[in-house]
Amino acid sequence: MSTELVGACFCGAVTLRAAAPPKGVIHCHCGQCRRLSGAAFTTWVSVARERCTVSGAESLAVFSPTPNGRRHFCKHCGSHVFTEDLRMPQIYGVPAGILQGEALSIAPSQHYFVSHKAAWHEIADALPQFGGESGYERLQNLGAEPPASAHRERFLAYLRHYAAKDLQAIADMLAADVVLRDWKICVHGREAAVAETRANFAAARSLLIEPLQLYESPQSVAGELRILVDDEVELFVVDVLDFDAEGKIKAIRAFLGRGPD
Ligand SMILES: [Zn+2]
Ligand SMILES: [Zn+2]
Repeated sequence: MSTELVGACFCGAVTLRAAAPPKGVIHCHCGQCRRLSGAAFTTWVSVARERCTVSGAESLAVFSPTPNGRRHFCKHCGSHVFTEDLRMPQIYGVPAGILQGEALSIAPSQHYFVSHKAAWHEIADALPQFGGESGYERLQNLGAEPPASAHRERFLAYLRHYAAKDLQAIADMLAADVVLRDWKICVHGREAAVAETRANFAAARSLLIEPLQLYESPQSVAGELRILVDDEVELFVVDVLDFDAEGKIKAIRAFLGRGPD
């Protein structure tokens, strides 16, 4: 059996097949997903676009709720079949509700846009929650998680600035004598660290950084990160940041690892 996922609209006019396992499954609680689905949230399965075939596409209509989003739905029955985000052109988002069969090879792993969720809906599982203005900031939902600390917030701010390729904001976070080391380079001083960061930014069209797990000691925060470069290259990286007494970053150590597969 080569086809791993099959989805169809309610009336059956449109079918989507993905010949590859999903790349991720998440719950999105944003207002757009809520209104377009009529449910508390939409569970999204991301699949590689190049592995997808859509039959009955002539029955699809497109609605763009945002400049980057294109939601394709069946014009006969109204089912939402897939969505495209122009910022991530390699991926189709498929609402899990249209999939046939009972099993997904990977389970939902996160909640996004939790700060925008329906007030009448309570999230009852322990999956990591993300929210805030962007919808992607880590929220403290796990009982076992330590409370937010200043360094942890700085670590997350660093990741946000990095994903936004905001060089100035990153430079402002670095101590003058910062040491930056990864699996390829080791540089000393703010200027050199900013230059390296600038080169990394120039090499990537887009960066999506998802913190999977954070660890903390009094002067340091480490994070296991999933980084999606240009919507296609998936890196699993551990970043360790040391902070000085002023809260500036005095060392960055990045380690490249392997993903779950
Ligand atoms: Zn239909
Ligand atoms: Zn959404």
